[in-house]
Amino acid sequence: MKIAILTSGGDSAGMNAAVRSIVKCGILKGCEMWVVREGYEGLVRGNQEEAEGKRVNAESALEVERDLEVAEQTILKQTHTQPDKNLLHNLRFGDGDLLRDGTSEYVGGRTLKGRYIVRVGWDDVRGWFSEGGTLIGTARSKTFRTPEGREAAAFNLIREGIDALVVCGGDGSLTGADIFRSEWPEIIKKLHADKKITDAQVQAHMHLKLVGLVGSIDNDMSLTDLTIGAPTALQRICESIDNINSTAYSHSRAFVVEVMGRDCGWLALLAGIAGGADFIFIPERPPVTMPWEDNMCAEIHRHRELGKRKTIVIVAEGAHDKDLNPIRAEYIKDILSDRLGLDTRVTTLGHTQRGGRPCAWDRILPTLQGVEAVEALMEAQPGTPTYMIGVQENKITRVPLMEAVEMTRAVGNAMQKKDFKEALTLRGPEFAEMLHGFRAIASMAHSDTEKKPPKLRMRVGILHMGAPAGGMNGATKAAVRYCIKQGHTPLAIHNGFRGLLDDNIDELSWLGVDAWMVRGGSELGTNRTLPSIDIGAVASKFQEFRLDALLMIGGFEAFNALLLLDEGRKHYPAFHIPMVHLPATISNNVPMTEYSLGSDTSLNALVDACDAIKQSASASRDRVFVVETQGGKCGYIATMGALAVGASLVYTPENGMSLDMLREDVKFLKTRYSLDVPGKSEGRLVIKNEAASGVYTTSVLTKMLIEEGGALFDARSASLGHTLQGGTPSPLDRARGARLSLRCMAYLEHHHELLLKQPAHKTRNAGPESAAVITIQASSVTWVPVQEMVKHADMEKRRGKSSWWVPIANLVEQLAGKPQFLGVKAEDLPKGNLQI
Ligand code: ADP
Repeated sequence: MKIAILTSGGDSAGMNAAVRSIVKCGILKGCEMWVVREGYEGLVRGNQEEAEGKRVNAESALEVERDLEVAEQTILKQTHTQPDKNLLHNLRFGDGDLLRDGTSEYVGGRTLKGRYIVRVGWDDVRGWFSEGGTLIGTARSKTFRTPEGREAAAFNLIREGIDALVVCGGDGSLTGADIFRSEWPEIIKKLHADKKITDAQVQAHMHLKLVGLVGSIDNDMSLTDLTIGAPTALQRICESIDNINSTAYSHSRAFVVEVMGRDCGWLALLAGIAGGADFIFIPERPPVTMPWEDNMCAEIHRHRELGKRKTIVIVAEGAHDKDLNPIRAEYIKDILSDRLGLDTRVTTLGHTQRGGRPCAWDRILPTLQGVEAVEALMEAQPGTPTYMIGVQENKITRVPLMEAVEMTRAVGNAMQKKDFKEALTLRGPEFAEMLHGFRAIASMAHSDTEKKPPKLRMRVGILHMGAPAGGMNGATKAAVRYCIKQGHTPLAIHNGFRGLLDDNIDELSWLGVDAWMVRGGSELGTNRTLPSIDIGAVASKFQEFRLDALLMIGGFEAFNALLLLDEGRKHYPAFHIPMVHLPATISNNVPMTEYSLGSDTSLNALVDACDAIKQSASASRDRVFVVETQGGKCGYIATMGALAVGASLVYTPENGMSLDMLREDVKFLKTRYSLDVPGKSEGRLVIKNEAASGVYTTSVLTKMLIEEGGALFDARSASLGHTLQGGTPSPLDRARGARLSLRCMAYLEHHHELLLKQPAHKTRNAGPESAAVITIQASSVTWVPVQEMVKHADMEKRRGKSSWWVPIANLVEQLAGKPQFLGVKAEDLPKGNLQI
């Protein structure tokens, strides 16, 4: 198959990662890969038949042939295996310089002047991960909106023999894609009738295979939780708001921050939660209480009365009131200045939000989606629908593209009709949950009547366990604010179970947790002490402090502690209260959950460090860096980090290390370096978990690589250690922390009510489901009773018995081309190996 990729509409961080992944996966599947520059405009313009373009292309082809011979000889010499010629051709096509020097005229031995549809090779996309925006260019094309434009586009594709297209863009671009595909048979007929294409071309191009990826910073597409670029945009916004927060606090000022989002309030909403805003304005949910100005001032006044020194209001650029009159930042500023006398400033974040360096998730998501896109194209039949690749919680999904586009459009239509309830429903349940979450965290109860009836109110103990992880404090803030709003009493248990035994408990206040979203580490203090140090004493403290419910936020220890408390129920009535564990650990080693708070922050820290290390390694041209990560006996951070930085090799405790493996890996690196264009070698990364092997330590591995690399490559090592805890928590960890924490509170309330229904004269008996862990499994949030959980845990290695991400280690090495450079032919690779 010949597959072309284009990026269209507004640029977003992560588009390059998508192109890279598709190019590499396509090549691994034996396809020929092309990119279309400048979006649909490039497709319409195509390749001009200019003599110059042809000459240079012919020359490049010759060069490639010469290179191929050298490459074949090298692989034969290094691996004693006959390489697959077709794969090798793809592998060696690019020279690694394509489009990287900021010009679109003449690049790396190939002229691009007048050429918009360009064949690319393996090395053309190397290093694309760390670049923001889209290197292949994007444009808004008026011509493609016309039938003539689309006819020209089809003709240009057919002329190059391309039979499949991947479009990465927003809803406009994907609508265009769907129209293009539906018109395709008609266009072919017309081109044939006009004698522009031959009978053979008609036969070969009866159908256009097409798949869509959503690249949009607004996260405005239905049927997918996240769009490519949205996490990075959110990160940029939160960085700005974090900075604004400190100046606002210093001067006791108010700031009105305008963020992008014409029709979609996702960025404003999530920034509102993660940035600790007082008030937000989003298009889907205009203020209901009128006049909204009074309502906003009353809320902010209440916060100020409590002693809050700063006020942050976030407004989406498309915000309006319920009559669709725009709500502008300047107007809000005037209201706050005039009515509340606040020194108020407006900050419009503008294009800085579009991105720059993609965050970890904007590298991982497009990479996995790219794999899925190529799979979808390989499987596409004339009758199958055009798919859009999405993601739901932690699962990469395929959804009918038109359905997603129509649903997205329906949100806009509902808003036009002022049916905001419908608009919110169409945005999906998670959006509504986040909105509900924002209100729970940001606004205070106006009166006692809004709270739970006194007999349902709980005294909730909150404690942190294990190593600190990003999002622990945010989750705690959400729980505390919710408690206060509902009339519960939030009790901070400082320094875990040790602190409990020392009576280190106090009640947290609404204002006291105000700045906690942005704080890394653990505000409560955390350690690994289990309740087994003195379970009887722990029970008596539960009783003494009259705990009605317990929320534990932490890693494997918290799970272990919950298990001990649950077992303790046999002897101690004080443990017959609802108790939950919210997983928070950078190792992500809690069984059954695919995601723990802190792992996103940690991956971002890893990506930042590795980008810098890779730059240094590349500057020396021939250096391999062995980067050691934390993670205990769980290789999650190493594996996902390797995927996010494009490492060549990854070592995990799950897969272990052996002499045979190392021999292969050295062979691979030698082959790879000897095939680099002389003087243009790339720095390469090897990611190794600290416990991957007791014998082949980082130091041994590095020395071995230095010894074996000889004149081809050099090696150095770096240990990331505790830096992986990541400092400031990522916005995704903050927002997810808040969301999961509120779910925990609802679960505790539910089970508390159930317990209250038991006859008072009997000893209360909390069932096993009231000691549970909140998990994310594939596409849903699921509660697992701790007794069930233990069946899936490897207690000795402190991790789950199975983990969804283990096959990703194979994917990392395939994307580095390891099997191909070792002479493994595509057909000999295990089937579906690229599938996750
Ligand atoms: P986004 O993809 O970010 O929503 P746009 O709405 O500007 O951005 O769309 C990008 C491009 O997609 C347009 O410039 C146009 O070339 C193409 N496109 C959008 N809508 C259509 C359509 N209805 N028919 C054909 N092409 C379209």
